[in-house]
Amino acid sequence: MRYVSTRGGPAVGIETAIMGGTAADGGLYVPEVLPGCAPGDFSTLEAFPEVATTFLKPFFAGSSLANRLEEVCRLALNFPLPLRQLEASPGTLSILELFHGPTAAFKDVGARFLAHCMEHIIRDGVFATAPVTVLVATSGDTGGAVAAAYYRRPGTRVVVLFPEGRVSPRQQHQLTCWGGNVVSLAVRGEFDDCQHLVKAAFADAGLRSRHRLCSANSINVGRLLPQAAYYALASLRHWRASGRPLSFIVPTGNLGNGFACVWARRVGLPIDRIVLATNANATIVDYLATGQWLPRASVPTLASAMDVGNPSNMERLQALCADVDALRQEVSAVPVSDAEIRSTIVDEFRRHGLPWCPHTAAGLRVYRELPEVERTRRDWAVVATAHAAKFDTIVEPLLGTAVEPPAELMELLTRPAHFDTIPPELDALAARL
Ligand SMILES: *Cc1c(COP(=O)(O)O)cnc(C)c1O
Repeated sequence: MRYVSTRGGPAVGIETAIMGGTAADGGLYVPEVLPGCAPGDFSTLEAFPEVATTFLKPFFAGSSLANRLEEVCRLALNFPLPLRQLEASPGTLSILELFHGPTAAFKDVGARFLAHCMEHIIRDGVFATAPVTVLVATSGDTGGAVAAAYYRRPGTRVVVLFPEGRVSPRQQHQLTCWGGNVVSLAVRGEFDDCQHLVKAAFADAGLRSRHRLCSANSINVGRLLPQAAYYALASLRHWRASGRPLSFIVPTGNLGNGFACVWARRVGLPIDRIVLATNANATIVDYLATGQWLPRASVPTLASAMDVGNPSNMERLQALCADVDALRQEVSAVPVSDAEIRSTIVDEFRRHGLPWCPHTAAGLRVYRELPEVERTRRDWAVVATAHAAKFDTIVEPLLGTAVEPPAELMELLTRPAHFDTIPPELDALAARL
């Protein structure tokens, strides 16, 4: 499989797409052609590493990673991804829990897979000589997942940029508790400033080659692919149990997770509707309503990992669709306010006794607001993107009870933290690279 930029240009191997992150012309890499599959191709495969290996095989065909794929999936995708059914017919409600990895958010899936791929690429000398610098902007969860995935991994340094004061205290701790080959920088600005700095660094040919810059942001095809694989896993599980396709509600910021679901459906998995839940940063909602793509500065919300005013992966969705009408066939989008997030956290706890993070709550809110016929005619899964304990300062006061952190998160929270603060300027970043 070869990869091309959303803006045209020559096709490259997946090693280049993974190590480069963004294409030289500023576009995002996508497969030259999407492969096809059917539920039967997975026969009786149950475990995520096996389903992922089968799903991803055509995407890696002909590359230096083809023979490593099984091992990468086995080592990187080694934590549970339960599909928990909460409500039965007509029209089931399930939660796809993606937060059982080391940093308790779905970002662990992509970050760990990417780290294992990069290590092979560097070791095989396919792309560049070590050390490479992985530069990553985070709205909260990516940075922790990437730091955890690359920590002490040979041949790589990691530089994490996060928006000062815009991430939860526990997220910040996860971003800054590493040291060693991980440098954490707070940027005086918002997530879009961090993302802009990363783009500016990559656009600077001198910086890019001097530090052998690589990206681990959700624009990296090496993160999106394993995310598409968990939609394969979840939809197959549901299909086998019920003979029905599954519709997904995906809490959305930069549109990596939601777009991965679109890929899984295009490849042939039994996926029905895809509904994007946004917070007050409703750039995608407005685009679907008006046909005008108007990126804007982000506003802070309770679902801070979704505070994105210029969702990068829209460029991939646009490249997949002839026009905005075609795009409206792929996804719909619903905005959720902070007040609705708060009341949903409380209501859902009362209903099922389960605490959900603000992002997941946005997804659940969209589910509760679906038209009756939509809710009863289809089977739905709300994607749970992070563990509620990562957002304890929001969730616990609302519920009036403590939310127990998972053991791995507890361990990270006991480590000492360190970070430096920089202004949102390329010179300041360059001085720290
Ligand atoms: C990153 C993140 C999101 C948004 O995902 P995108 O792929 O950026 O759309 C939602 N919820 C949580 C908890 C996240 O960490």
